[in-house]
Amino acid sequence: PLLSSPTAATPATQPLGQNGRERVINLDHGDPTMYEKYWKQMGDKATIVIPGWQSMSYFSDVKNLCWFLEPEFATQIVRVHKVVGNALTEGRHIVVGTGSSQLFSAALYALAPQDASNPISVVSAAPYYSCYPLMTDSIKSGLHKWAGDAKVFNKDEPYIELVTSPNNPDGFVRHSMVNRTGGILVHDLAYYWPQYTPISSPADNDLTLFTVSKITGHAGMRIGWALVKDVEVAKRMTKFIELNTIGVSKDSQIRAAKVLEVVSDSCEQAGGSEHVESFFHFSHALMTERWRMLRDAVKRSGIFSLPEFSSAHCNFFDNNLGSQPAFAWLKCDGDDVDDCESFLRRHKILTRGGKHFGVSPKYVRISMMDREETYDLFIQRLSQIRS
Ligand code: PMP
Repeated sequence: PLLSSPTAATPATQPLGQNGRERVINLDHGDPTMYEKYWKQMGDKATIVIPGWQSMSYFSDVKNLCWFLEPEFATQIVRVHKVVGNALTEGRHIVVGTGSSQLFSAALYALAPQDASNPISVVSAAPYYSCYPLMTDSIKSGLHKWAGDAKVFNKDEPYIELVTSPNNPDGFVRHSMVNRTGGILVHDLAYYWPQYTPISSPADNDLTLFTVSKITGHAGMRIGWALVKDVEVAKRMTKFIELNTIGVSKDSQIRAAKVLEVVSDSCEQAGGSEHVESFFHFSHALMTERWRMLRDAVKRSGIFSLPEFSSAHCNFFDNNLGSQPAFAWLKCDGDDVDDCESFLRRHKILTRGGKHFGVSPKYVRISMMDREETYDLFIQRLSQIRS
């Protein structure tokens, strides 16, 4: 989330001026700090203690293809997917990464033909996640190159298509969009969790990426995982991570296993005599409230618009529900505002403009996952803006 913006290092709210009343609100990056509240409520339930002698070896499970995958973390991944019903894990290899960002690079490395004379094209339908072009081309690899919007890709050559569903930045459910068969698909399902979108069916793809960052909010652990059907692809991804970082922090995997365990426990125990609140019940209710506040503020200002989502049956909540994405994809409607990012910056709201996502600067992406104090300030300021 930090890659593409010069404002990325600015904290979410920052005092400006003498008395600090006019604060800059930074909702440019998707830092999921809104979940802190839940984890504070959970007290010691998700606390772990790691003795000094523990997790010293490079190796976690030498019998596993992914030899640096902690077995308990693998167990909790399989469990949480079963509890939520958002992905099939049977017949898949799990590869752990330092965030799903590392797994993204590992996937491109593993899927690109090794003996081709030209790098393979990597595409995604615009608006696409702003880090894809930067990460694809960061080392000017001979294996792969960014080729832009999947909707207009018409070269008669092999390609890798990134399918992000629900999509970052606009929140829509997506399928492959290149008008041709034979592409290699990578599904980035970072946001396919019940607090953001109805869980309509378990994902059953060749290569799917998930991240702890967006499910539980623990972005700082830097842990992601890939579910991979093809054994050779899983081996090559593992090789990439071995070459890149010789594995993935065991301490982080042990901690990630614990938070996933607490999430699954909370779902199974919710409604019982212990009065446990399911993690997804908490996070879904919070997102519903934030989207209600945002839609109200947008209506009041009269100069912005937001995407509209149709509802669908969510198997997890067993209810017909709408989408409430982790980002708001806001459009400045008036003819007098061409650059929505600059317009909002003048109101001391930092967002990420449409051009980073391959579309018009009339759009901006706004994080919905910040702390309550920042979010409330943002809503207050947005509702006062007039053209
Ligand atoms: N994919 C998508 C669509 C994302 O929005 C993000 C985080 N902004 C990532 C991947 C990377 O997540 P991480 O590296 O924290 O796992």
